[in-house]
Amino acid sequence: LNYQTARFLTSAPTLTECPPDQGAEVAFAGRSNAGKSSAINALTQQKALARTSKTPGRTQLINFFSLGEDTARRLVDLPGYGFAKVPEKVKLEWQRHLAEYLHKRGSLRGLVLVMDVRHPLTEFDETMLGWADDKEMPVHILLTKADKLKSGAAKNALQQVRNRLREWEDLVSIQLFSALKRQGVEEAHQRLDDWLLR
Ligand code: GDP
Repeated sequence: LNYQTARFLTSAPTLTECPPDQGAEVAFAGRSNAGKSSAINALTQQKALARTSKTPGRTQLINFFSLGEDTARRLVDLPGYGFAKVPEKVKLEWQRHLAEYLHKRGSLRGLVLVMDVRHPLTEFDETMLGWADDKEMPVHILLTKADKLKSGAAKNALQQVRNRLREWEDLVSIQLFSALKRQGVEEAHQRLDDWLLR
């Protein structure tokens, strides 16, 4: 698939306002500041398709991008989780929307979980993995900002995450990624192709 053709389709505050649940989509999730927007922009070779969201507390939306004119294949940018300053009530509300999206969205083929290679597997990352496991939804983990570590340390981090998730190895694949250096773009494209072209 040609990911450069990605273009903004629509935003939805809740599952009921999402575009029709047809075709195939892949969703991106991650703790805020992990590098999710930068990863989406690197994968689509666009500067600002996904906005880097520096304003915690504003209404968070599920953003849909279509690949080309055809809306049958989509990338979905889920709201980042873990903004420290957001009131607990709002956090819980967002968790509910995320859980509902993951559990009920029939066209969802796979979940890309973006983690900072230096701080992988936060509590909510684990929650997301648990939800994916409930649904037997395949997950691809991007350990991003790999350029911030020396190559040996990055490989160690990758191995540690693989070891921790060994029990889920049928469902979960993991790679190093850097939006800055465009490292791992092809490997990620291949995984997206597997899901979206199936
Ligand atoms: P998001 O909140 O998960 O969407 O994260 P952003 O994409 O906005 O990135 C958060 C911060 O990390 C920004 O300052 C980015 O410039 C930086 N960043 C994101 N990806 C990378 C990367 O691969 N390498 C480096 N060095 N910095 C990155």
